[in-house]
Amino acid sequence: MKKELIFVGPPGSGKGTQTKMLSKELNLPHIDTGALLRETIASGSEQGKLAASFMDKGQLVPINLVSEIIKNRLMKEDCKNGFILDGYPRSSEQAYALDEILKEIDIKEKVTPQVLYFEVSKDKLIERLVNRRSCSKCGAIFNLKTMHLKDNTKCEKCSGELIRRADDTEEVANKRFTTYFEETAPLIDMYKKRGWLTSIDASLDIDTIYKNLKGAVK
Ligand code: AMP
Repeated sequence: MKKELIFVGPPGSGKGTQTKMLSKELNLPHIDTGALLRETIASGSEQGKLAASFMDKGQLVPINLVSEIIKNRLMKEDCKNGFILDGYPRSSEQAYALDEILKEIDIKEKVTPQVLYFEVSKDKLIERLVNRRSCSKCGAIFNLKTMHLKDNTKCEKCSGELIRRADDTEEVANKRFTTYFEETAPLIDMYKKRGWLTSIDASLDIDTIYKNLKGAVK
């Protein structure tokens, strides 16, 4: 049966880490909008320049650009058995756009998506964000405070350079929270009313969250 999993949660709630692990285990593509946008920026295109001007300020990138990127990605062959959406939709407007995209791609089979909502307090989130580093080579994510790396500048998996994302400073992180609470949080109620929502306690440690997540995925 086709599985459509949508992850919603504030910045730093651990969605990225968990969805990467789940994607491997379930053999479903992990579609991370933020990462797709960062790739678009790296390509140097006009689209990328436009995206960067919003991302640098912690604001949502215009819906037309994001929805086009997502639609093209979801139409690829590797999504035929389902997918894991990480970071989309992030507003009611995007949720309605996704409804339309799913109507187009699920013509043959009616699928009810499952929305996994990562719940965690704001203080914990800021702490996680400012201590977050990711590998510039393999994309692995580390937390300097909880993981006690031998060298805070090197990836323990592939020795790549660890970098701090441009928008993980306290100032931009705060703006991203405001954006989340104003634009993304209303989705929780909307999906709850549809009966699609499952809440996950994301304040726990990585292994416990993953165990609970696997138990919750239908
Ligand atoms: P993330 O990597 O998920 O934390 O996203 C980083 C940034 O990319 C966000 O702060 C937004 O500026 C942008 N972004 C990611 N996903 C979306 C989306 N669905 N809609 C609009 N902007 C997005």
